[in-house]
Amino acid sequence: MFRFRERDFKEVKHYGGKSTAWPFGYETLEKYYDESEKLFSVHGLRGSDPTESPTSMEYPRPHLPFEPLTLELSSQLKSIGLNPFPLPMAIRLPQDDNKNASPVLLENFDGFPDPTDSKANGQTSCLNKALAYFNVTLITNAFVNRILTNVEGNLATGVEVVIEDEKVVFDAGLVFTACGAINSAALFLRSANEKHPNGLANSSGLVGKNLMLHHNGCLVAFTKKNNDCKFQKSFGLADFYNGATDSEYPLGEIQLMGRNDPDTILWMGSTLYPDKSYEELRASSIDFWLTAEDLPSTNNQVSLKEDGSIKVSYDRTNYTAYERLKDKLKETFVRLGEIDSDYKDVQWGGYDLDVSGVSHQNGTLKMGTDPSESVVNIHCQTHDIPNLFVCDASFFPSCGAFNPALTLIANSLRVGDYVVEHYKL
Ligand SMILES: Cc1cc2nc3c(=O)[nH]c(=O)nc-3n(C[C@H](O)[C@H](O)[C@H](O)COP(=O)(O)OP(=O)(O)OC[C@H]3O[C@@H](n4cnc5c(N)ncnc54)[C@H](O)[C@@H]3O)c2cc1C
Repeated sequence: MFRFRERDFKEVKHYGGKSTAWPFGYETLEKYYDESEKLFSVHGLRGSDPTESPTSMEYPRPHLPFEPLTLELSSQLKSIGLNPFPLPMAIRLPQDDNKNASPVLLENFDGFPDPTDSKANGQTSCLNKALAYFNVTLITNAFVNRILTNVEGNLATGVEVVIEDEKVVFDAGLVFTACGAINSAALFLRSANEKHPNGLANSSGLVGKNLMLHHNGCLVAFTKKNNDCKFQKSFGLADFYNGATDSEYPLGEIQLMGRNDPDTILWMGSTLYPDKSYEELRASSIDFWLTAEDLPSTNNQVSLKEDGSIKVSYDRTNYTAYERLKDKLKETFVRLGEIDSDYKDVQWGGYDLDVSGVSHQNGTLKMGTDPSESVVNIHCQTHDIPNLFVCDASFFPSCGAFNPALTLIANSLRVGDYVVEHYKL
């Protein structure tokens, strides 16, 4: 759970062009980041990452302990001048508050639902608490088909929802969308009506445009070191976030990730080490996750096909940064090989996510102050329909290269404050 860096809110030059400045700076979100880290019980170590944004607040919880391999690797990286830092993790463990409680030992849940409720996610941190209120109802298996407006088209009046093949209309004084950047944009487009023929709140023509995904992918180092980590996702490296000695422009950040699943490890090993078993491959590999910034482009967009299904058109925008970031990780292991022979002659496997990997989707309902160049204003309220708000990452004008969840959570708290104050709720 990362805060975006101060520079992520500014226009920054990249290999692929420029990122768009946000209409407010980091300082506007700072107190909401503080609140979000508390709400999501983030474990971390303030001051360990030289690129981190300023705050006077410590992390609510100390960082998770490293295992022997990651501890050693982290200190070796420090010895060659890099700054590995404990990943800020949204986790709630029984042993956090009670040393005598049966501990939950973390394994590979980062990309999966967590039945132990140790992952501090939207459900455990917010939804369960909200459901305790008598006036909150959660309806599951309900598909929001359209947002409805009054005849004049200047107020949202409710939503049309499909529940068990039946259309049900819910009236509403305020409507918030948080379907994820692709589905929120699609919902706006599906909700076209007489006053909004090109999709709701689309007077700018930008609904669905500027889709960003981040350039994400995995690099797996096959080394001579024995990797017996149970929970490998422990540290990050942001030393190349703003560039490198041989890279003028920002590259991105690198994290250890949860272990790849057996099929993926076997697939990677099949060409490099066809005779090795899964267990051997797993023990000799270390898995990294890399993220580089994607830049807004109106060519990258969500639209609807004639049958109403969603079409995503996307071309990579700033891929040089990602390729250079991969090179940096490989170079780092060459340097590690000079101090530890187990890291000599590393073989690399991995994969790059493309448009099929939309885990960090954002940007399709751009925020800005000029209604002709953005869909929502600084309160994430659509310029065209003031009681229609957007509370997912679709408002991002640009997306930095850190994982987005904490930023969209912090922003939702900010929007919530505005709504409570503005509507005297
Ligand atoms: C495998 C994976 C790992 C990730 N790891 C990290 C991480 O480590 N750190 C991080 O910061 N981010 C991470 N992310 C990204 C993070 O999960 C997202 O940024 C975040 O969940 C987005 O939150 P959201 O509420 O906007 O959207 P979502 O969490 O996608 O929720 C949107 C909800 O809306 C529902 N919905 C959509 N359309 C409709 C409709 N028409 N009607 C009704 N319901 C609808 C969907 O079913 C879904 O439940 C990860 C994502 C994935 C997929």
